[in-house]
This record gives sequence, structure tokens and C-alpha cells, in this order.
Amino acid sequence: MLKNYGGLSIISGIAIGVLLTAGWLAYGKIEAEVKTGLEKTLNTVLQTSRKSLESWAGGVKQEATVWAGLPVTQAFVAHLAEKHGSSINPHRHEVLQKEFGPLSKVHNYLGLYIFRKDNLSATSFLTDNINVLALYAQNKSFFEEIWAGKVVLSLPKRVKPHDQTAKLAVARIFVGAPVRDQENNVVGALVLSLSPQDGFSQILQRGRLGNSGETYAFNASGLLISESRFDAQLRQMNLIKPGQRAALNIYIHDPETNLLVNGPFVGNIHDHPLTRMATHALTFQDGMNLEGYNDYRGVPVVGVWAWDKSLNIAIATEMDAEEAYLFLTSMKKVMIGLTIISTALVGFLFIIYVIGREKLATSEEDLSITLNCIGEGVIATDVSGNVMRMNPVAEKLSGWLFEEAKGRPLEDIFKVINAITKKPVMNPVKKVMASGKVAGLSNHTILLARTGEKLQIADSAAPIRNRKNKICGVVLVFRDVSDEYTMAEELSTALGDAERANQAKSEFLASMSHELRTPMNAVLGFAQMLQFDLKYPLSLSQNEYVENILAGGHHLLELINEILDLARIESDQLPVTVESIDACKIIEDCVALILPLCQPQNIKIIQSADPVLPIMVRTDRLRFKQALLNLHSNAVKYNKQGGTITLKTKEIEAGFLRVYVSDTGVGIPDDEHHSIFNMFHRLGADPTIAREGTGIGLTVTKLLIERLAGHVGFESEEGVGSTFWIELPLASNTKTLIWSDALQVGIGAIDQDHQVIIRLLNKLCRSSVGQSELAAVVEELWDYSQYHFRREETIMKLCEYPHLEHERVAQEKLVSKIESLNEAWQTYQEPEMLENLRTFLRSWWLDHIINVNTELAKYAKGKEQRIRKALNDLE
Ligand code: ADP
Repeated sequence: MLKNYGGLSIISGIAIGVLLTAGWLAYGKIEAEVKTGLEKTLNTVLQTSRKSLESWAGGVKQEATVWAGLPVTQAFVAHLAEKHGSSINPHRHEVLQKEFGPLSKVHNYLGLYIFRKDNLSATSFLTDNINVLALYAQNKSFFEEIWAGKVVLSLPKRVKPHDQTAKLAVARIFVGAPVRDQENNVVGALVLSLSPQDGFSQILQRGRLGNSGETYAFNASGLLISESRFDAQLRQMNLIKPGQRAALNIYIHDPETNLLVNGPFVGNIHDHPLTRMATHALTFQDGMNLEGYNDYRGVPVVGVWAWDKSLNIAIATEMDAEEAYLFLTSMKKVMIGLTIISTALVGFLFIIYVIGREKLATSEEDLSITLNCIGEGVIATDVSGNVMRMNPVAEKLSGWLFEEAKGRPLEDIFKVINAITKKPVMNPVKKVMASGKVAGLSNHTILLARTGEKLQIADSAAPIRNRKNKICGVVLVFRDVSDEYTMAEELSTALGDAERANQAKSEFLASMSHELRTPMNAVLGFAQMLQFDLKYPLSLSQNEYVENILAGGHHLLELINEILDLARIESDQLPVTVESIDACKIIEDCVALILPLCQPQNIKIIQSADPVLPIMVRTDRLRFKQALLNLHSNAVKYNKQGGTITLKTKEIEAGFLRVYVSDTGVGIPDDEHHSIFNMFHRLGADPTIAREGTGIGLTVTKLLIERLAGHVGFESEEGVGSTFWIELPLASNTKTLIWSDALQVGIGAIDQDHQVIIRLLNKLCRSSVGQSELAAVVEELWDYSQYHFRREETIMKLCEYPHLEHERVAQEKLVSKIESLNEAWQTYQEPEMLENLRTFLRSWWLDHIINVNTELAKYAKGKEQRIRKALNDLE
């Protein structure tokens, strides 16, 4: 797998490399800057301390010189010579004390000694009682330099106090200046005694940096001669004793282990070398180490140092490396962390990428397999309508190879025209992009393949949405329906034949029923006359025969009447008179008629609502009553002994009244529901529910009500009862068209077409019809209009109708208007667009029927035979 992503590995590697190099370069720069800053700081502290020490030393030397030059000092030296130091005149002491006392307090002198050069007799003033002889013995070279005329400053050193019993020696700095006689000969020395903690150590203590930095001094032997910052630590480390100070007690040796971590110290410190700093400083050189070395506690430090020739001491400024590089160490940790995280991140991203690629490749493969297996043509485009994918079926149908089609506009590959108008059909991608919804091509769409072949196709296009639900393309699915069309055409021809045969049958039945009714009425009439003949009354058995004739005859007459109605409706010969009538009144009439039938079975009629106000419907009074009576009589016929019939009215969807007739009868089994309105359908197989009837009532009811632009339906549960209902347009409903005699133009074929068209228009105008069903209705209306126009044109030509050309233009306009309105509605699916389409179609057709076709009828008079023949030839 990694082999496939070699390039990517290199890119990831380089990314890591660049990231790390940049990070570490930045760190290197910061490190250098930190070191430079550290060096500067340490050097500044060291040099400041050194200069301060030098100026302090110069100051005390100056003071000693001044005191040595005072006449009182010289006089005292002369007096010492006289007395040989044995018994000093107390008055002279007093004079000196008076002279020096106040000054020594200001300058913190601990003692002041005056020595006579020739016999080294000496005396001390002020408070320090150091044994002056011991002082002399310890500082031979010190005095030699004074006798040579120099002012001398001794380094801090340990001296025994005057009181020999005192165990602890004390640390002192001595400053000596020569006392001269009149002849300028050095005859004595004035020595001042100072505590190293005043001035000397104070200056060095000022050089303590941060929490661990210190500046200290040590002599040529490596002995620490200034105060240490770490006395407490050194005691714990066992490098000095309890109560001891580090100054003048420890040498700058490296314990060679960090005693702060691994302490306390065991062994002899003198077996260990001097620290690297001390070793270098004692070669009388200045130096610096920022990399780190052990100090006298074994703790890694960084430092700078110098050998001061004038003071004859080494001075060092050091700081714990940990503190000095605290920022750098944290920074380094951050950098290492960053390095690890970024490496891990890049690695992780790489893995994710690799997995993602694998998944993508798999899903690509799956998609390709799926597309290749689909039996319909599939083309996917991007948002601009350029081809992105194409499956083999699409390649075959369009005649384009995907490789050639890829990236090209869909219009180049998928050229579609309307089969009837031959005009290009709107690009389905544009339709989908505009509406964001699934769109289908209307029927009669022809794909012009690259090969020149013309294929009748059906298709639909749907938006492709990304994870954010944004449209990122369109997928078009289409198939070759040429065969289906051929079959549909054949079917339609067959249907046409069947319809014509049915029409002929209906016409025959209509005339036959009529012919049958007359003799039937005669039979019944004569039979009744036999019964009522008082002159020759019938015997009992004869009367029984006549009763049988009458019963059979009535049944037959009922059958004939219903068949007659049926045949008339089917052959569109049923006369219909539309008027506004009160539905409640009709219901009342029906109840009155049906009540006598209820009595034998003790059936109760309940009117659930008893409206005070009339409910006006627009319908044919007679036919409405007939249909309602049918339902009523069924509700009685199929009811149980002592059952009920409930009547209810309700305004349903805008503009329709529904009349319910419910019974508590035998009900209808579920498996019979679908065929209940079929002609001659009776549930007669079951003798318990078979009642007298013809099996035509419901069929006639349905056809009648539909003829009146209404609907019939029912709900039923076996053993519980049934509810049948009739729906008719309210008087206020002007949108629903009812085919009535007023619309009849008198040309049979045209009137028949108009009835179909009005039925379709009513279907289109019903708001309860679903979206896809509406599309199918528009389609059917479109097809039927084309069919009607062809027939109409034939008639117009035959009748030499003078406005044929004008009519052609009007029809063309209608076609393109329907196309654009339908297109707009299909694309945007806005209710208001549908309403536009409905209104336009309704008014166009009404105008066409009332004006154009009525006018045509004038020219068709007397040509009915020829018209029928011409239309037959057309089909
Ligand atoms: P029929 O003359 O047989 O009543 P219809 O066309 O009126 O013919 O009814 C067809 C069949 O539907 C009836 O035979 C009956 O089985 C069933 N049917 C109609 N109305 C009802 C009802 N209210 N309850 C139960 N069955 C019914």
C-alpha cells in the first residue's frame, strides 16, 4: 500500500523535516541570544564587583595614609620610641582616641595600631584587641612593604584575638601605611583593622544574581575569602562545620558530584581538584564558561572570572546552570514536544490520507461496478452541467464514449427534442438546478444519438447533494422506451377498436332496451287488466300465474330501465340538465320513498344532521335522486332485521358536498371491495346475503355521478355494515365543469371528445389529487387534445370550415402555452403555477367548445355519415 503512496511519503517526510529544521533553527537562534545575554550579565556583574572592590581598597588605603600623616600620629611614634612600648603615657592614648575615635566609628574600624619600626614596640587603640605581636608575626611581608614606604592592604585572613583563651580565630583585613619623621624617614606604621564583612564582602554580595547567582573571591591558594551565599547548604553538605561560615574555611575544590542532589560529602575535599574555574583563574587569567562546570558544591554552574592583580585575588561570578538556562530548558522541552507532536500529526495525517484514499478507491470501484450493472443509461454532471460520469448503457444510447464526453456540456452528449413539436427540450440539468428537485422529461421525448439514430426515451434527473446538502451536480437516468411506445401505440389502437366496439354495443343496447320496454309495458299492462277484469274474474291458480307474470315482468322492466340508463351513459346520450338544487330536499324525498321499504324489516332511518339552511348543489335533480335512491335501496336490501340507516352530509374539499348513506347490514368482504362497482357484480354466491337485484345499480350510480362531475365511494366491514357516499359539486363551485346539454355541439364524435376532456379538466382541478397523478393527468390531457385536434381538423376539412387556418394557429398557441405553463409548474412546483395552468386550460376549452365547435357544428349539418366514415378512416 505504501508503495502506491511513495510520493506522499516523501512529501510528508519533507514536511516533517522542514518543520523540525525551522523549529530547531529558531531554537538555536534563541539559545545563542540567551547565551549572549547571559554572558553580558555575568560579565557586567563581575566587572562591577571588581571595580567596586578596587575603589573600596583605594579608599581605605587613602584613609590609612591620611591617619599616618597626622602630627599626632608622628608624635605618638616618637613617644613609643622613648618609652620602648612599656608604659605609655595614658594622656597620649587619650589624645589619640579623641582624635580617631569619632572617625573610626564612621568608617567601621575595628582597631587601630601604631608600630615603631626600630624596636617594633606597638600599641592599639579603639576596640579591637588583637594581639599586636601575633599580628606582626603573621604579617612579616606586610610590614616589610610598609617599611619600604608602601601603603599595604592585606586580604582577609584569620587572626587570633588578644585573648589567647578564645578558641575561634576572627577574620580581618588590615590596611597599613608608613609613619614618617621630620626627615621623611619611615619610623613607624599605622595599621587599621577592618572586618571583611564590611565593604569587602558587601561589595561581592551585591553581585548575587537571581536565586542561585553569586560573586565571590578567593586567594592564590584557592581559599574562599568572601562570604558564600550557600553557607546553610555547605553545612548540610558537610563541607563546613555547624556554626562555621564558608569564608576562609573552604577551598574552591570540585567535589566531583552534585552534593545538592547526592550529598553530603564524604572524604577529604583536598583529594579533589580545584573547580575548572578556579584552576583557570589561578593561572592569573580571565575566563568564562557558559557550557557548565561544577562549582565548590558540585552543582553545575555557568560563570565568568578574573584575576585581579592589584588585589591579588580571583573574583568569580557564577550562577546555577539550571536557573541560567531555565527559559532555554523549558523552550527545549516545548520544542521537543512540538517535534514529537508534529511528527505524530504528520504521521497521523498520512495514515488518514492513505486510509481515505483506500476508501475512496474502494467506493469509486463500488460506484463504477454499480453504474456498470445498471440497465439504464446514467450520466452525472457537475453544477455547470458538464459530464463527469457515464455508464456503458449511456454510452450505447448516446453513441458517445465516456472518455470523449468527459468534461463536455451535457447538451453536446444528450440532445433531446419533443417528438411532436420537434423542438429541443429544456436541459434537465438546468431544470434540476433551478428547482433543486427531481425532474422528469415529459413523454414523447426523443434522444438524438451521435449515430443519427432517434430513440424514444423516458428519463428523470435528480440533484446530487454533498454532505452539506448543497447541490454539487445532477444525475440523469434514462432508458430507451421505443419498444414500449410501439407497444403502447398498438395497445391504444386495440383499445380504440375495443372502445368503438363497446360504443356500438352501447348504442345497440340503448335502442334494444328502448324497443324492449314498449312491449314489456304492454305485457305488464295486459297482465294487470286480467287481474282487474270484473266480468271474467280469474280463478285462484290463474291469479297466481298472473302474479308471477307481473313479478317477473317488473323485474325485467327494472333490468331494462337500468340497462337503458347504462347504455345511454356509455354512448353519451344521457340527457343532463344542470341546475342549483337543495341537496337536503332531495335527501328528504328519498327518505320518504324508502320508508315503506324499511317497515317489513323494522329498519330505522337516522338523519345525523338536520340542516336548517339548504345546501345547494349544482347537478341534475333526477339523476342525483336516482343515484341516492340506489344507495338507499341497497342500504335497506343488505341490512339486517331491526338495523339502521344513517344519512349524513359534509362539505369536503373546496366546492364538494358528500352525502353518506350508512347501514348496519351484512357488509362487504375485503376481497370484494375492488369489484363492487363492476357491472353485474353481485355477492349472490352466498344465499344468506343474496337479495333481489340486478347487479347494475352501483354501476349506474357511479356512471351517473361521474357524469355529473362527482365521485362515488364506500367503506365496508363484513358483518358490521357499509357506508356508501356520493360527492357532487356545490352550487358555489364554478371551477368544476359539468357536461350538460348546454355544452353539446351536436357532432357526436366532437361531443364525445369534449366529455373526455371535461372529465380530465375536472380531474386536474381537484386539489386532493397528488403531484405525480396531476402530471399524468396533464400528460393524458395533452395526448387527448392532440387526438381531438386531429379528429377536429379532419371534420373541419370535410365540412370546408372557413376558419381552419385560424384554428390551427390557435391550437399551436395552446400547445406552446401548455408546454411553457407545464414546464414552469413541473420545474418550480409552485401551487400558483398549477393554478395558472388549470385556469388557462379551463377557459381555453370552454371557449373552444362554446364558440369554435358550435360554429363548426353549423357546417357539419347533414354530413354525419361522412364524418363518421372519415374519422373511422383516420383511425
Ligand atoms: P344489486 O341489484 O345486486 O343490488 P348493485 O349494483 O346495487 O346490484 O350492488 C352490487 C352488489 O354490491 C350487490 O349485489 C351487493 O352484493 C353489494 N352491495 C351493494 N350495496 C351494499 C350494501 N349496502 N351492503 C352490502 N352489500 C352491498
